[in-house]
Amino acid sequence: MSGARARVAALGAVYSDPAALRALQEERFAAQLDRLRTRHPRYREMLQGAEVASLDDFARIAPTGKSDLASDPEAYRLDAADPSDILWDIAYTSGSTSAPTPIFQTARDFRAILTAQLHMAAIRGMSADDRIANLFPLTTQPHGAWTRANHAAAALGCELVVGLGGAAADDYPVTRRTTEIVRMLERTQPTVLWGVPSYLARILEAARSADVPLTGIRMFAASGEACPPALQAQLTQLAAEVGSPDAVVSNSFGASELQCGLVECVPGTGFHNPAPDQFFFETIDDDGAPTSDGEPGRLALTHLDRRGTAFLRYVLGDVVEYTIEPCPECGWAGGRVVAHHRREGSMVKVRGNLFDVTVLGAAVGAVDGVREHQAVVRTASDGMDELVLRVVETADGALDADAVQRAVRAAIRVTPRVERVALFDIHGATGSLKPRRFVDERSS
Ligand SMILES: [Zn+2]
Repeated sequence: MSGARARVAALGAVYSDPAALRALQEERFAAQLDRLRTRHPRYREMLQGAEVASLDDFARIAPTGKSDLASDPEAYRLDAADPSDILWDIAYTSGSTSAPTPIFQTARDFRAILTAQLHMAAIRGMSADDRIANLFPLTTQPHGAWTRANHAAAALGCELVVGLGGAAADDYPVTRRTTEIVRMLERTQPTVLWGVPSYLARILEAARSADVPLTGIRMFAASGEACPPALQAQLTQLAAEVGSPDAVVSNSFGASELQCGLVECVPGTGFHNPAPDQFFFETIDDDGAPTSDGEPGRLALTHLDRRGTAFLRYVLGDVVEYTIEPCPECGWAGGRVVAHHRREGSMVKVRGNLFDVTVLGAAVGAVDGVREHQAVVRTASDGMDELVLRVVETADGALDADAVQRAVRAAIRVTPRVERVALFDIHGATGSLKPRRFVDERSS
């Protein structure tokens, strides 16, 4: 039996048995429906008179959008019914496109999150023998990425160190500078570096510059932004240079609405839903109808066992292919995102050309010598749109600005003006979770 298959089998036979799993999901959903009908302000209204009894009846339920939640977060939270339903914590969505929105967890939900974190660890191959370095920054609002990495270590019973990077504050200066984080890693020699991949690369570059050996790294747990092949290669190369030649990148697909992430058992096998008894995923078309298994659609989440913020058919904003076919590598039947097409809202128009900002980002990231970048669209003095690419070059100084221009023109048919900047100019001291790679400064 392969390592991945053995780890998944240890979580319980039900997760590898599609029929048994579906029966468990239906059972959980029936109980959740009862709670929504009696205790959920928004769905109590929506479900009144609706003939919904099973997961097969979903086409009868209108999807919920992010803006619905943002306009009234309290309406998506169940009334407390017993002591296990008291508030445990609040996490906020990272708010890259809108104001941060609170996601409420009850005491019971928190235990469910710990369980989902244990499943994530088992699927991706993290264990009690690991030493985790949580390298998410301390953000301005409580964010699930930083918080749950700590909780995952608690649930696993493994060693944990926390980088606590992020913006410095005058009143309570608790965050650490990069050099301090590198020294901490040298002292503790973690096996797992968990964080936003572009930031993990920065930390390893700092370790390399300071000649700090980090010989125990076996996994990068990448989260919070896409980690394309070029960035994965950069991470494994940097790991080799500091003394860890066998490190792998474990990619993930997370959401604040889950307080966990979908993870791969083996790179390239798709993002596995770690808790199919808590989360039901489907893909839907623009009219809200389910698309066929494995066909592209907008990913929608339904909570099957939640007491705090709980959703029915909540549209997460990603166009993906999702399948419930068991994973050929590990046998997991909990469902997998096998292809990620795009984030919704990622299309912009510049000088009459409509393009996807993720395509722009991938094109720039693939140019040799590009360490980090930020694309800015603004209105120039002649009233026309102007695309400026702010580029940070790699330490070897191999950046060719013309190559950046050519790559962008080929990808999106817009020729940018290229500016060389320092890394700080892009990351700044904002304490944000990830770099903003696209900024639209036009007024309308
Ligand atoms: Zn698998």
